[in-house]
Order: sequence, then C-alpha cells, then structure tokens
Amino acid sequence: MGLENIKGRIAAAVAAAGRPQGDVRLIAVSKVQPPDRVEAVLNAGHRVFGENYVQEAAGKWPGWREVYSGTEVHMIGPLQTNKLKLALDLFDAIHTLDRPSLAQKLARQVQARGSCPQLFVQVNIGDEPQKAGVLPDDTDNFIRDCESLDLPVFGLMCIPPEDQRPRPYFAAMRVIAERNGLAGLSMGMSADFEDAIAEGATHVRVGSAIFGARDYS
Ligand SMILES: *Cc1c(COP(=O)(O)O)cnc(C)c1O
Repeated sequence: MGLENIKGRIAAAVAAAGRPQGDVRLIAVSKVQPPDRVEAVLNAGHRVFGENYVQEAAGKWPGWREVYSGTEVHMIGPLQTNKLKLALDLFDAIHTLDRPSLAQKLARQVQARGSCPQLFVQVNIGDEPQKAGVLPDDTDNFIRDCESLDLPVFGLMCIPPEDQRPRPYFAAMRVIAERNGLAGLSMGMSADFEDAIAEGATHVRVGSAIFGARDYS
C-alpha cells in the first residue's frame, strides 16, 4: 500500500512550492480496486476517495460509509444525466460538470433537494476532440451559466493530454481558475501530481500509486 509514501511526496511537493501544509487534499482513486485494498487504506485512516462509475460506487460506498465515519466520496468519471439522481445520493463532490445539459439537469435536482455537492467544472485543457470537458475558450461563459442556474462552482478539474509534458496545462488551468475567482483546482494523478501541486492543485486524484495497478480483466 503506497498511501504513506504518496502522503510524504505530497507534503514535500507542497513545501517545495512554498504552500502551507494542508493546502492539498489527496483523493484516493479506488475505482476497480479489490475491496481488501480499499479497506487497507480506510483502516490506515484515509477518508477521501474518488470513483469513476456510479454503479460501482453504489455497490461499495453506502456500506463502507456506515463503518468508516467521515468518509467522502468524489465523482471523477463521466456523468450521464440518467444516473444523476443516484450520483447525488452517493457523492460529496462532482469533478466532471462538463456540459450545459448536465448543468441544467443538475440545477433542477439541486433545487429539489436543497443541497448541492461540491462542484468542479471539467476543462478540456488540451482541446482534445475525444475528451470530455468544456473547451478553455468556453470556460468563463460556462461558469457564468452555472452560476445563473444557482449552481455554486467551487473549482476546475482537468486531465491533461497523455503524450505531453503536463505542467504547462496545469499552469493554464490556474490562470482560468484565478480569473474566475475559483478556489479549487482538481489536477494531478499518479504520474504527475507533484507538477500539479507546483502549479496550485488543491485536490490531487491518485489511484494506482496508492493501491497498485488496476486489473480490468
Ligand atoms: C483513474 C483516474 C485517476 C487516477 O489515475 P492513476 O493514474 O491511477 O493515479 C485520476 N483521475 C481520473 C479522472 C481518473 O479517471
């Protein structure tokens, strides 16, 4: 289990960036991992997790939440509108608010419930045609549209292009967050969370470096 190692590396990256300790939250990405690995991390005291699939999370987290108090589960995968109600029952935060149709349906649900998860707008920071997220040029307008729907946007999230140095993309995210007055930046995964912290990440999403490789077979 790599939890302590990753926590140490985060603390070092936070210090190197001259940021206060506690500035960066570690989301342990538990998608597809066997239950015993997740329980080991829960038993080590960690309480913040990320999941990509609504159905998978629905099968795991209600039970663990009863045993491990204070557990937070963040949705970091693509969200279909037909799973939105279930997602709102399950998640404390949604990192993948990525399109107007989702914002509109979410706004209606949030009104009906009187509560809203913490929201991050996903930005397609590399302008990649196959990737989800709002294009960088559209992000300011999208944030304003969310706010006019009474959706409080807490921050931005991205997955930078795979085949390039991520740091310039993280820097570009910071610029968009700052000009929109947003406090949250969800960026950085197992391979690049230190670069993300150097550029201001407040939430890093680390899976395989904590739990080991995912077995999709
Ligand atoms: C799976 C996933 C992660 C974790 O990836 P690792 O490389 O295992 O750390 C982080 N963010 C998102 C959006 C993911 O889908």
